[in-house]
Amino acid sequence: MGGFAFIGAGAVVIDDVPDYALMVGNPAKIKVWMCQCGIQLHFNEDKATCEACGSKYQNTGSKVREVGVFSVHEAASEIVA
Ligand SMILES: [Zn+2]
Repeated sequence: MGGFAFIGAGAVVIDDVPDYALMVGNPAKIKVWMCQCGIQLHFNEDKATCEACGSKYQNTGSKVREVGVFSVHEAASEIVA
């Protein structure tokens, strides 16, 4: 099980759970990806930045990995864009 996996109430997990995945249902499926701080990530193509803590993530298809934290400057330009 992933170090930062989230399991929804009633979910029956039969497979390994990737990091940052929120699993729901029976059998459990990945519903959304969650930041390690517990906020849902919204991916733009394969990249997401947590709205709460600024952590950056990359979606590689079946997995999501953290790729660092935006600097304040980068975060500001992201909001403007
Ligand atoms: Zn976060």
